[in-house]
Amino acid sequence: MKKQDYLDHLVGVFGHPVAENPGVVIQEAAFRALGLDRWRFLTIDVEPEKIADAITGLKAMKMRGINCTIPHKLAVIPYLDKIAPSARLIGAVNTVINDNGVLTGENTDGQGFMIALAEAGLSAKGKKIVVLGAGGAARAICVELALAGASHLTIVNIPKDMALGEGLVKTLRENTQIVVDYVPWVDAFKIPADTDIVVNATSIGLYPNVDDKPNIDYDTLSTSMYVQDVIPNPAFTPFLQEADKRGLKWQSGLSMLVNQAALNITMWTGLDPDKEVMKKALKEALS
Ligand code: NDP
Repeated sequence: MKKQDYLDHLVGVFGHPVAENPGVVIQEAAFRALGLDRWRFLTIDVEPEKIADAITGLKAMKMRGINCTIPHKLAVIPYLDKIAPSARLIGAVNTVINDNGVLTGENTDGQGFMIALAEAGLSAKGKKIVVLGAGGAARAICVELALAGASHLTIVNIPKDMALGEGLVKTLRENTQIVVDYVPWVDAFKIPADTDIVVNATSIGLYPNVDDKPNIDYDTLSTSMYVQDVIPNPAFTPFLQEADKRGLKWQSGLSMLVNQAALNITMWTGLDPDKEVMKKALKEALS
């Protein structure tokens, strides 16, 4: 008789609030498609002051790993044994891997962005890139772009976030070869004509503010440029609509989200998930 194995393999996300996080939809669809019937992705509400207890619980239950979202991406760091070099530069962890009690922190946001870029047929090497915003997603993207050999980065950010933006610029200048300009975002930003890639890494356009778009002079976009958005919901943001109607190649935040979730699965299971299955599940959930 075949020996039964009812043991659940647990991963999930710690956040607060976290109820609207679609991670479970994407990850469970991938597990089912991989035949990992006893893998479970749990959406767990962890209040800010409970992160240490939550990590103790993760170890006690031998969870294989966890995603961290707001407000835990920085707070989790003191409880980890190792931090991947890019996550250390980014200063935030969104994925934890538990190897028999040894916890490693990774940041797959920027890596997911880079894979999406590669899927669009682009390499960052030698490219001139404009990144709008200097928050968590922007930070992850800028670090990965710099590590991948982009030649020039212009970070455009609203003046109330000067310290945030300047901190990012300092990190990039001290740790990578990239040339960085920092532009206080006051008026409609004009994209320099020699720009190769434009990234919206702000939260502008995210549901429910679906009509909002970054304050740039859209007539400075040209067809030689490629545009990528971080916003997954809605996927076709007004920012992308402006790029699309001017004939630019573009990609939505869905690709970044699916790619970072796929990376998480590979880090936890060692397997490559079916990204089309994941994208379909995400689109259905968001619609
Ligand atoms: P943060 O709050 O850390 O950063 C958002 C940045 O956008 C801040 O610097 C913010 O400035 C700026 N911003 C917001 N509104 C405006 C505005 N009107 N004008 C100029 N700047 C503005 O959030 P995250 O970086 O974590 O997330 C940003 C977006 O990225 C979210 O929409 C999130 O859903 C998306 N995301 C997508 C991922 C994916 O896989 N597709 C992964 C991670 C994030 P201020 O703080 O001053 O408002």
